[in-house]
Amino acid sequence: MDSGTTTCEATTQEYLATIERKSGLNAFLSVFGEQALMRARDIDRKRAEGRSGRLVGMIVGIKDALCMKQERVTCASRMLEHFVSLYDATAVARLEQEDAIIIGKTNLDEFAMGSSTENSAFGPVRNPVDESRVPGGSSGGSCVAVAAGMAHTALGTDTGGSIRQPAAFCGVVGLKPTYGRVSRYGLVALSSSFEQIGPFANSVADAARVLQVIAGHDPRDSTSATVPVPEYEASLTRDVRGLRIGLPREAFTEGLNEEVHTAIEKTVDALRREGAIIQNVTLPHSRYTISTYYILMTAEASSNLARYDGARYGYRASAPRDLTEMYVRSRSEGFGAEVKRRIMLGTYVLSAGYYDAYYRKAQKVRRLIQNDFFAAFRDVDCVLMPTTPTTAFKLGEKIDDPLAMYLSDVYTVSANLAGVPAISIPCGADRQGLPIGVQFIGKQFDEPTVLRVADAVENLLKLGSQPRSWS
Ligand code: GLN
Repeated sequence: MDSGTTTCEATTQEYLATIERKSGLNAFLSVFGEQALMRARDIDRKRAEGRSGRLVGMIVGIKDALCMKQERVTCASRMLEHFVSLYDATAVARLEQEDAIIIGKTNLDEFAMGSSTENSAFGPVRNPVDESRVPGGSSGGSCVAVAAGMAHTALGTDTGGSIRQPAAFCGVVGLKPTYGRVSRYGLVALSSSFEQIGPFANSVADAARVLQVIAGHDPRDSTSATVPVPEYEASLTRDVRGLRIGLPREAFTEGLNEEVHTAIEKTVDALRREGAIIQNVTLPHSRYTISTYYILMTAEASSNLARYDGARYGYRASAPRDLTEMYVRSRSEGFGAEVKRRIMLGTYVLSAGYYDAYYRKAQKVRRLIQNDFFAAFRDVDCVLMPTTPTTAFKLGEKIDDPLAMYLSDVYTVSANLAGVPAISIPCGADRQGLPIGVQFIGKQFDEPTVLRVADAVENLLKLGSQPRSWS
């Protein structure tokens, strides 16, 4: 754009054409064609007057769990299929203030529940690297939009891995910020004490630039932190000398695919050669992470989803005989199987008699898991581990086996339980060419360190050009 060879309008047109051509991947639930072009023309005019924002020309996809005024927000559920939001999510509004162009809303697992994007009421998303495979989930649409060149960046949400796991499966960068770093105002609530909004990008620098814009306190979200926002780009020094990186013993055990393990080891070697100090750490409660997460997240989700009663939001069953039947049939017809499973599980662990045995106990274990991280961070500056135990699996492979599906989150949920920031970046591929991700987890609000080490690794491994990155 600076050299005058393209404009926001031309870029938008090009991305719209790519979206059209790749519609078979099913990444988008709505595309803002004419509207995006109009905005692009406006921004081009502003540019000509020399007053454009920091994200000028960036084409962005938004997970369809985030509100945009006057647009549908479906959460990939029949329940909200025709629901139109009344206001903008803060993260979206902040992107627009900086002249990013929102190109559409992306597909997801229904209410962000899942690890494969097969739970969408509007059909599964396909992995662009191998279309017979899942892209991961739940932010599969946002991830694929970025991986397949349909957007420069995209916003996803990460409750237990929904940004990092798909990023690993599709070979892009995915960042889950510290809990409280980004306002959740305008994000349809699923699991309020876990979820964070974060970017997908084709480079760590792009992820840093998006975070810069969306991070920071918002009076409309009382859980958003008042901690000052540092200059993230300034942390991308490529210098990792003396940086202490911890390898949790518990992450390198059975269940970890050999090729994933090898790629992680190569990353560790590269960092060691650059002068990073690699040491072992222990996260002794790691084996409880999945059970703790699936007790607490289902409890929170069952409570958050109580609002979909057929009266106040979304779908209402036709011709109910009475009020009770309206509730029962609206919820039975509006929600998909995984959502129902979690509502039942969550209601169960919160019910009198089981609350102490499950919910309260899981809260205590959550604190122990968090303390494990705090203890590790006394010795190291960040933790390195695989993002996922395997590469992308086949569509349909795990859909009838919820436990197997839940286990694909084994390395990602701990950062959500502890509320700490984590990033996944590509670190190689298996023999079939399927991407492998490495994850860096940092101290609370220490996104600068995870971004710095991720950017250094991206540069060291040079896994190929990133023609679709924005900067
Ligand atoms: N796969 C996890 C789950 O199903 C995480 C989902 C998410 O992060 N939104 O709950």
